[in-house]
Amino acid sequence: MRVTNILNQNRETGTASFSFEYFVPKTSQGVQNLYERMDRMRDLQPLFIDITWNAGGSKSDNLTTELVAKSHSKFGLNTCMHLTCADMSHEVIDQALKEAYTGGCRSILALRGDAPTDNEKWDGAAGEFRYARDLVAYIREKYGDHFEIGVAGYPEGHPEEADADVMIAHLKDKVDAGASFVITQMFYDVDNFLSWVDRCRAAGIAVPIVPGIMPITSYASFLRRATWCQVNVPKPFLAALEAVKDDDNAVKDVGNQLVFDMCERILAAGIYHLHFYTMNLEKSTRAVVERLGLAPAHLRA
Ligand SMILES: Cc1cc2nc3c(=O)[nH]c(=O)nc-3n(C[C@H](O)[C@H](O)[C@H](O)COP(=O)(O)OP(=O)(O)OC[C@H]3O[C@@H](n4cnc5c(N)ncnc54)[C@H](O)[C@@H]3O)c2cc1C
Repeated sequence: MRVTNILNQNRETGTASFSFEYFVPKTSQGVQNLYERMDRMRDLQPLFIDITWNAGGSKSDNLTTELVAKSHSKFGLNTCMHLTCADMSHEVIDQALKEAYTGGCRSILALRGDAPTDNEKWDGAAGEFRYARDLVAYIREKYGDHFEIGVAGYPEGHPEEADADVMIAHLKDKVDAGASFVITQMFYDVDNFLSWVDRCRAAGIAVPIVPGIMPITSYASFLRRATWCQVNVPKPFLAALEAVKDDDNAVKDVGNQLVFDMCERILAAGIYHLHFYTMNLEKSTRAVVERLGLAPAHLRA
């Protein structure tokens, strides 16, 4: 099953689908917990899941490719592998792609990655790949159409480039290099997201654009992530959470409602796929998917 085909079909038929991102745990216990969570959450029937690549800028130890292969072989999940290229040699990229290929993976989210944490002066110029578009072109050159390639989009700009229009031009470069879908950075400002999608379309980006949705599990983590990703939090949204910030259960309830409202608006605007940043947690993502009526019928009864 090709993800891009389903996303395109969704647009034609008005059918909604969703997917889950998981990050690579740091401990073996974390890995075990993640497998159990993936196994439980597959009852929701996500269109695909994806696994991050050494997020944080440290070198990979190939746990990503292991997780990708196992989620595919053990749980039958259609799995997209993130792959970053900043400060990576062709040799390391080749190895990762080979492992993805042999592990049954058919979809790569091609990213530049952040600057290595141990090199503050890094600007990417010395690496073998400078931008994500170079990785997209490389994968296409080596593997033809075997992999579907997704790329990252930034409705509110990027820490290195605040001008969203310049980012749109760079996004178009990535699509022109061979990407067939876009997954966005998390956001809470739906108006801005929808107008950004219109601007992407006007710039000639015709591939499916998938909104990245970050469920709210605690007040502290909500603030930390919104600050880290430099995203705007609309005032009423922030006020609703601030009003309950000392009550963890109320934050979860209000957060689920806010995220549900966001998702409803996005779906109503004709964007039919939602990508949840699960942060390897289950309950909030599950609650929102179920409330949206997107869970399989037997779970809705
Ligand atoms: C959906 C999603 C998933 C992610 N998953 C991971 C992950 O698994 N692991 C991880 O480490 N990080 C991940 N990231 C973070 C990502 O690696 C960083 O945001 C990184 O800084 C940019 O990656 P990119 O692929 O968008 O880079 P690019 O598209 O290459 O852009 C990087 C910077 O270069 C600029 N640029 C691009 N092209 C050009 C050009 N032609 N000329 C001049 N400037 C240009 C852009 O404006 C931008 O400022 C993810 C981000 C998103 C949105």
